[in-house]
Amino acid sequence: MLGKWLAQKEYQANIVEKLRQIASITPEAVREYKDEITKLYLLDLDVLKPIISPLYSHTGRKSEHQPEIFRSFVLMSSLKMCPDNWVEKLRNNTVLRTICGFGDKMPNVASYYDFINRIYCLDDRPCLRTLKSKPTKKYAKGEKIPPKHPEIVGKLVEKIIEGRRFESRPELTLQKIFARVVVDKSIEMGLVPQNVDVSGDGTCIDTGASHYGVKTCECKDFKCSCPRRFSDPIMKFSSKISFLHLGAGTAIMHNISMVTQDISS
Ligand SMILES: [Zn+2]
Repeated sequence: MLGKWLAQKEYQANIVEKLRQIASITPEAVREYKDEITKLYLLDLDVLKPIISPLYSHTGRKSEHQPEIFRSFVLMSSLKMCPDNWVEKLRNNTVLRTICGFGDKMPNVASYYDFINRIYCLDDRPCLRTLKSKPTKKYAKGEKIPPKHPEIVGKLVEKIIEGRRFESRPELTLQKIFARVVVDKSIEMGLVPQNVDVSGDGTCIDTGASHYGVKTCECKDFKCSCPRRFSDPIMKFSSKISFLHLGAGTAIMHNISMVTQDISS
């Protein structure tokens, strides 16, 4: 179950008091992180609580430090760090520890990964399936491969107009957090205009996983049809997956096959 969650006003009062104490001894330590302090001071996590609290059970051991871990992720992104060296950094930096909201106790690296798994429900364990061969048909220069799902955009539009929403996507919570905690607040503060244009385009990125998979059988024939292990379960023919970009600087990862599965189900 969800542990202690300090209200934003209380958090702000706390860090102002603690930073004042630190600044009276080492003012430069506070000055060094002025951008990060502003960021976290303004980041209202009262809005985050109702979004993520349904992800915790009502019984059992309390998950402590959840807002503090969230703030840590904001700082990690700002300071270009990852959880593995962040824990060490926090241990040695009073200012960062204070603005995250931590007291004497701090979570270990595993708690950071638990938090990621809780808000991003993608099952990315390796899967076993048969190898699908690449499409072999060759196309002339300039000739386009025909769409695999013709009129898919039209179908999507139709479903959305009917009121259908895609509620099973793994990034749903992340998008809710982004919308409520970041976009709404930014509009409220006058940082972005009331009306924003959204545009979409697709691009491919390399995932680094092999699209041949790893053989799990003893067959001599490399092209046998036995199941293989794929380290990236969303891998299909190539080692690239598609990204769907939305305007205003946000890129939301969408596996196209997931969307089409959602539509056809
Ligand atoms: Zn085999």
